[in-house]
Amino acid sequence: MKTNKKSYLRIGLLLIGIIAIAAVILIVNMNQQVNEQEEVDEKETTVDSEVTEDEKEKELTQEENGNSDAVQKEETSPEKQSAEHQEKKEQTQHKQGTKEHNGYIEGQQLPSKPTYIQGVLIANKKYPLPKDFAPGESKEARAAFEKMAQDAKKQGFELVAFSTYRSYEYQATLYNSYVARDGKEKADRYSARPGYSEHQTGLAFDIGEKGREDLWLEEAFGESPAGKWLAENAHKYGFILRYPKGKENITGYMYEAWHFRYLGVELATKVKESGLTLEEYLGIN
Ligand SMILES: [Zn+2]
Repeated sequence: MKTNKKSYLRIGLLLIGIIAIAAVILIVNMNQQVNEQEEVDEKETTVDSEVTEDEKEKELTQEENGNSDAVQKEETSPEKQSAEHQEKKEQTQHKQGTKEHNGYIEGQQLPSKPTYIQGVLIANKKYPLPKDFAPGESKEARAAFEKMAQDAKKQGFELVAFSTYRSYEYQATLYNSYVARDGKEKADRYSARPGYSEHQTGLAFDIGEKGREDLWLEEAFGESPAGKWLAENAHKYGFILRYPKGKENITGYMYEAWHFRYLGVELATKVKESGLTLEEYLGIN
């Protein structure tokens, strides 16, 4: 019995030993697994936080853009695009060595005589007028406008030419007030520097509708029935829409639904039918 008891004890101890070893191995294994899992978790957390930061940055950028949109709320995206385009063009030109700014040739002096290209008096950012060029409002253009206004009335629109001839001095006052309000960069996109305005030729008419003064000098005028009628019919009276949409890099000005230039019926019709700007039509773009 004694021997039996002893051998049972041995077997029991052996079993306990085996179980203990197995338990230790199991615990060590489990610990390893836990550690590995923790490492994976840590990595995932890092990735998560990176993504969050990226998204935060993105959100911030969007907010910044949103803010600048609010500041420049007058601008629409096509304008912005053309502004960017203009900037790119200028950068290229700078690289090539020509000095231009907002479409103007830097350091250019006003000429002593106005420029005629193919018999057409031209006034733009590249071709300024003499300071003393002061023809007043063109009688021919005024007569054409009155005829156009009469026909527009039959369509139900009462057209008003709210700004026509402007002297060099008046343009200087106007431009300077815009620069004071919006800064030079922005003012250059919608207002001419003195000597560079087409209004100084006496052939440019800013047109609006009576009773819709809220649309005067507004892009939205182009979407109104009167604005649409003008864009479609002005050439029959000798006028062209001078600064069309998406042509800022050519004309130097943002879309102006209200600014019409008198060219006479024949040339206005040719330009209109060509679908080109005056600069492109005359080959001076
Ligand atoms: Zn104008």
